[in-house]
Amino acid sequence: MSDSTSSSPSRREFIRTATGATAACALVPGTLLPTALSGQPRTAPGAPALHLREAEPKVVASGNGHDFRNGGEETCVEVVFRLMTEGEDVLDAVIAGVEINELDPGDTSVGYGGLPNGDGVVQLDASVMHGPLRRAGSVACLEGVRTPAQVARAVMDHTDHHLLVGPDAQRFARNMGFPIEDDLNSEQSRELWLEWRRRTDPSRWPSAEDREQVGHQMGLEMVREGLIDAEHYWGTINCNAVNARGELAGCTTTSGLAWKIPGRVGDSPILGAGLYVDGEVGAAGSTGRGEANLFNLTSYLIVEQLRQGMHPLDAAMEGLRRIQENTVESRLLDDDGDPTFNVNFYVVDRSGRHAGVSLHDTGRRFAICSENGPELVPFESLLGE
Ligand code: ASP
Repeated sequence: MSDSTSSSPSRREFIRTATGATAACALVPGTLLPTALSGQPRTAPGAPALHLREAEPKVVASGNGHDFRNGGEETCVEVVFRLMTEGEDVLDAVIAGVEINELDPGDTSVGYGGLPNGDGVVQLDASVMHGPLRRAGSVACLEGVRTPAQVARAVMDHTDHHLLVGPDAQRFARNMGFPIEDDLNSEQSRELWLEWRRRTDPSRWPSAEDREQVGHQMGLEMVREGLIDAEHYWGTINCNAVNARGELAGCTTTSGLAWKIPGRVGDSPILGAGLYVDGEVGAAGSTGRGEANLFNLTSYLIVEQLRQGMHPLDAAMEGLRRIQENTVESRLLDDDGDPTFNVNFYVVDRSGRHAGVSLHDTGRRFAICSENGPELVPFESLLGE
């Protein structure tokens, strides 16, 4: 069971802070300041570096958050946990973590080497949300930048907007000093795209509808044959974290649905869909069929259920039930009337309780990191296998 019960008063305790000082007293209310933008103080000047522990520090992410190291020692969830317990801003920590997946060509669902769109172009979506600051930023259909989460962060920090898209998002990134590359395909993602092109011979596309259908079927065939990991056909990383001060942040970054129609934007960069963080309540984010999630703004729904006092697991299951109820098109249903696709949610509340849920049980796991170290944990599923 994906659970933690750190919110019980008996487990509240004084802890060491990032400075390593031994706890001896609590800060009086009001001296804890929200985590601030880079360069701004995070605690009141002169405040003792000691805090009443408000949450069990926790990082929750999709399974790839503990699968890839990009040649280094640590995975995403390990980096996030280490940085935030060292005192880094919680969103900076999350972005540093997901960057491992964005840069690792082995993760073909995120950043560099992500599976491209139908024209062979890697188009990336990402969103970030900072709980204490109540700020957010995102980018969609961004080409040429390996680290779209960083660009989303720049949108948050340097503009009055929440979402920049396409060539203008790239122009913004260039102006902010991000290197722009012609092509983000790795050898592997290009080879897989060429294989998909070969299978979806244009002569078999008499209409736009058939073309989409054939393209999707061939993609699924490649998944069944083991050429593409199912998690990477859709595939994304979502990572949410809460530190000991109860400060929350989250990020979702992706190359989106493999072989998507150029310009297609999924749920990942849409606030409330692929990610939602409320600094007072909790954070939720998703991977899986973005369209199902976009229709229901499910991450927002889950966080609202947390606000009503629900446990993350119950709140997340409620989100899955909403998706199931709103899936009525026969093309999306199996013989039992259940959705044929999968969607997953990763949730952490302000006290550090967490959940990872999945519409179907695929045997896959999600990642957490706590004081007990990193772990891959089975999802709770709504519909079974
Ligand atoms: N949700 C992403 C999208 O629809 C893909 C995924 O996570 O599998 O773009």
